[in-house]
Amino acid sequence: MDIKQIYMDANALLEGHFKLSSGNHSQFYLQSAKVLESPKTAQLLANELANNIRASGLQIDTVCAPALGGLIAGYALAQALDCRSIFAERVDGKMSIRRGFEIKEGEKVLMCEDIITTGGSVMEAARIVEELGGEIVAIAALANRGFCKRENSDVTTKENCKLPQDIPFYALADFTFEIYAPESCPLCKNGSQAIKPGSRGN
Ligand code: ZN
Repeated sequence: MDIKQIYMDANALLEGHFKLSSGNHSQFYLQSAKVLESPKTAQLLANELANNIRASGLQIDTVCAPALGGLIAGYALAQALDCRSIFAERVDGKMSIRRGFEIKEGEKVLMCEDIITTGGSVMEAARIVEELGGEIVAIAALANRGFCKRENSDVTTKENCKLPQDIPFYALADFTFEIYAPESCPLCKNGSQAIKPGSRGN
């Protein structure tokens, strides 16, 4: 399955000259939500991810996703794995599990995101699951920004990756495009101006 082509066809992988929220510039921008606006595509991607996870023989009781980004991917993956789907959400800046969701002692939980950059949010949610007695057996995302090593990829773990090294991480593809400090951005040097993704309604 050509994951990058699927993202491009859905206008989820944009090419141009972008100013990221970090202030850095990039030639590419990944707008994950766009690839999920087609439920059929969302399920296709989730099924592929589920196949990779199933091949490992892991037992999974529940998929837990951090809201908002992970919700659709998490729900679609739970459907593909035929298990329970719950989510964590930020309340007053702190990740928490609400809405009557319960986690049993020793319940095997897979954490799911749409995209993993350094894995900060997903690990914040994972810690809450563990506090409630759950056991994190795997982490999954549709897309990997290339800072963390995933199963079946040669991309190495970078210093800022927050995922634990002893828990398997599954993703469909690595999106390892360069980011540049504005003063050393080759696109700026060519005279173009960086735009903020979202500033034109995307
Ligand atoms: Zn630039």
